[in-house]
Amino acid sequence: MSHSSDKQLSSSEQADGRFFGEQLDDFRLEVRSILAKLLAGRSVADGAASWMGADTSFSRALAAQGLIGISWPEKYGGGGRSLLFRHVLTEELLAAGAPAAAHWVADRQVGPMLLRFGTEEQRAMFLPRIIAADIFFCIGLSEPDAGSDLASVRTRASLAEGGYRVSGTKLWTSGAHISQYMLTLCRTSDSGSHRHAGLSQFIIPLDSPGITIRPVLMHSGEHHFNEVILDDCFVPSTLRVGAEGQGWAQVTSELGIERSGPERYLSTFPLLRQIVSELEGDPGEAAIDAIGQAAAHLLTLHQMSQAVAELLHAGGDPNVAAAIVKDLGADFEQMIPEIGMRLIDAAPMPESADPYASALAKTLTYAPAISLRGGTREVLRGIVARDLGLR
Ligand SMILES: Cc1cc2nc3c(=O)[nH]c(=O)nc-3n(C[C@H](O)[C@H](O)[C@H](O)COP(=O)(O)OP(=O)(O)OC[C@H]3O[C@@H](n4cnc5c(N)ncnc54)[C@H](O)[C@@H]3O)c2cc1C
Repeated sequence: MSHSSDKQLSSSEQADGRFFGEQLDDFRLEVRSILAKLLAGRSVADGAASWMGADTSFSRALAAQGLIGISWPEKYGGGGRSLLFRHVLTEELLAAGAPAAAHWVADRQVGPMLLRFGTEEQRAMFLPRIIAADIFFCIGLSEPDAGSDLASVRTRASLAEGGYRVSGTKLWTSGAHISQYMLTLCRTSDSGSHRHAGLSQFIIPLDSPGITIRPVLMHSGEHHFNEVILDDCFVPSTLRVGAEGQGWAQVTSELGIERSGPERYLSTFPLLRQIVSELEGDPGEAAIDAIGQAAAHLLTLHQMSQAVAELLHAGGDPNVAAAIVKDLGADFEQMIPEIGMRLIDAAPMPESADPYASALAKTLTYAPAISLRGGTREVLRGIVARDLGLR
């Protein structure tokens, strides 16, 4: 995987990069100690929810420590640090099993999207409030007939006086029920011969007239997903993000960030930690082998993901590398509960007082989603195949 050479990095960037790794190490220890305080008393099962777990008060406490939007410009209240610091922060949040879902997509996608494509007015309106965890966002891409095939979105935004009227249905919208805004991909004109044409993005306030949010419960009964129905909902032109018709290019430009981060290999880390703690003392040879292999995979994924962060930092195009990180990371994350079940004789029990049994149950509930969310396994492999000239 390629990354920037010394020559391409300016001296301030070098201060952030691997040559000045002590700064990142210091930051890691600082974050670890903040999280130890903020998360004291939480159960192992809560931690196993990983970034599916939402707790708005945790997000606010993190914001109070200056840990949301840390790579955004200081003039909006951001931390002004490089993406490499964000990478470290994300690793620590996930390793600690922090319930970061409430602010997750705003921090990862919405902020960077506004910094790249938004107007100055939009940045001033939203970024400081995201950084303070005053507002939360969800992402409205998927629809009943548009998941992997995102270009078939049918939610339509039609021109009206001063803005657009939006109608359609979004599905699998994580966290819409705790968010104030949805970054929404809509069709603004017919695609014609080019199926990626005619799409645009909007920030839609979820309290607008014409919006209904319906829960879609998981088989465990948990409320994570929603169906968001938009019925002739008015959105002012000032809330369109980027130029009309540029939605596809904008959405796909963020995929490198979305697919390469630590959330693609650390989602089940809290269970791995618990497995190690269960086996402590007298692990046996099979356990030593399995945990050793898992640790080696983890370190490799960490290095691959960090290389993509460095590539992003240097302005490179990481989409294929990110697809590989996500595909290999999903295999790794789904392997962790299997290792636990092979090595430890305990059944998964959601409400058990045994921390391992309850963490295993939680992880097993979420594990199938890992190779679906953010691009399915087949779709990712299709991207790699295309890059190799195989399709
Ligand atoms: C935990 C989780 C959170 C999510 N959060 C959000 C969210 O907040 N906002 C949002 O908009 N969406 C969200 N999604 C939806 C997610 O993006 C979609 O589930 C995903 O894009 C797959 O779409 P689909 O479910 O319609 O499956 P489909 O696209 O119908 O795919 C079904 C199966 O067919 C395979 N397949 C599809 N196309 C091809 C192809 N061309 N070649 C080979 N095989 C193919 C797929 O790999 C898959 O196995 C979330 C999903 C999960 C699991």
